Amino acid sequence: MAETAGTVFDVVILGGGSGGYACALRAAQLGMNVALVEKGKLGGTCLHQGCIPTKALLHAAEVAESSRESAQFGVRSTFEGIDMPAVNAYKDGVVSRLYKGLTGLIKSRKITHVEGIGRLVGPTTVEVDGQRVEGRHIVLATGSVPKSLPGLAIDGDRVISSDHALLLDRVPESVVVLGGGVIGCEFASVWKSFGAEVSIVEALPHLVPLEDEQASKQLERAFRKRGIRYELGSKFSGVEKTEGGVRVSLENGKQIEADLMLVAVGRGPVSQELGYEAVGVEMERGFVKVDALCQTNIATISAVGDLIPTLQLAHVGFAEGILVAERLGGLSPAPIDYDGVPRVTYSEPEVASVGITEAKAKERYGDDGVETLTYDLAGNGKSQILKTAGFVKLVRQKEGPVVGIHMVGSRVGELVAEAQLIYNWEAFPDEVAQLVHAHPTQTEAVGEAHLALAGKPLHMHG
Ligand SMILES: Cc1cc2nc3c(=O)[nH]c(=O)nc-3n(C[C@H](O)[C@H](O)[C@H](O)COP(=O)(O)OP(=O)(O)OC[C@H]3O[C@@H](n4cnc5c(N)ncnc54)[C@H](O)[C@@H]3O)c2cc1C
Repeated sequence: MAETAGTVFDVVILGGGSGGYACALRAAQLGMNVALVEKGKLGGTCLHQGCIPTKALLHAAEVAESSRESAQFGVRSTFEGIDMPAVNAYKDGVVSRLYKGLTGLIKSRKITHVEGIGRLVGPTTVEVDGQRVEGRHIVLATGSVPKSLPGLAIDGDRVISSDHALLLDRVPESVVVLGGGVIGCEFASVWKSFGAEVSIVEALPHLVPLEDEQASKQLERAFRKRGIRYELGSKFSGVEKTEGGVRVSLENGKQIEADLMLVAVGRGPVSQELGYEAVGVEMERGFVKVDALCQTNIATISAVGDLIPTLQLAHVGFAEGILVAERLGGLSPAPIDYDGVPRVTYSEPEVASVGITEAKAKERYGDDGVETLTYDLAGNGKSQILKTAGFVKLVRQKEGPVVGIHMVGSRVGELVAEAQLIYNWEAFPDEVAQLVHAHPTQTEAVGEAHLALAGKPLHMHG
């Protein structure tokens, strides 16, 4: 372990995932002496069990679909199957290159990397394997782990979490995905492309239930077309092992048999037995409570990332980590507008959004205070070239700025960069309508939607 005795660091960060390491990098950049305590691998969930490995699988899935569907584009090829060890080698290669880069970066910024399990033992002290690490400030960034339902045991064999799913050395013949949120839909999409029979069970009325309802419905249509089955508004009642797999029962009496069940019902904070409560940190349902600048009730302690009750996204962790570093460094960072954070589900098709849904806008501005426009990707040349269906939907406050952008279709995750500028700059449709978009790109769909909302539709009927 790194030598820390006798040093009082400017900041000691507990947890080296997206939130913790971003805080460490920015704090070091601002001249602070930083200790970063990590029990596993720097990079945390996002790099090792989350964003990066899942997106590598999704890319392999896209390649599989391209080879299967190549005849539609006049290209002869034969899809011969998935070599899962080779897919994993590709995925692990991506992760290990990024991991090497990150460890090098942490070292180059002269951050003290303390390896081991840390525990908060006082308002300015973390204990790591019996050694005290002191800081003027502490940042809690211990992240999250997969949750289950009461009474549902994840055995890692037939009932698995996303952590296990990333380590599978075979493609299951059939899978039940419990939970139709982002993680569930992404794995459902991968496995279907790899050749599995997939059924999603979601207790709420729609897939990706936090998204605008129109986007959820479009994803459901696309999944149905792809042969991904789903049971919506269906509550899970139990799972039993069969000779070859699992039998999943729903409260509505239905039963689904499959090789495996993936439990994707959300992630819970890592905050148990880490001394947080004992030191007096205010908690809420296991999350650490913070103010708009990620400060806890204890002046020397801040918290970031999945450990606090904000959106569980890597880029939110980065932003919160940077915000805390800047506050501790004496700068005046602005609070994060969480509505302005882009959200992407990287399934096929993708779902991307920023701002608020139509339903939320109506709650905020009244039914008559909201205007919406949906531009169908059928009118967008590049989307037709890609043979994707979907839309760009705009939600605006009447006579006011655009307050929500919701998109579905292949590759629309890339369009969210412009969408977030539009939302965060509180742009009006006629201002965006002035911007010239490159032809033929999918970004034109964003431009066309604003042209239409500004009253001058181009490639659009009606
Ligand atoms: C399957 C999956 C896919 C995802 N895809 C995306 C995506 O595409 N885009 C996106 O934005 N987000 C995605 N996420 C979410 C993203 O991974 C998390 O929001 C992000 O990792 C949170 O960062 P964090 O720093 O708060 O926590 P974590 O990344 O969980 O890091 C916490 C770190 O703290 C360490 N730690 C915990 N306790 C201790 C202790 N006592 N002592 C020392 N160290 C400790 C852990 O080992 C870990 O490294 C995905 C998540 C999953 C599971």
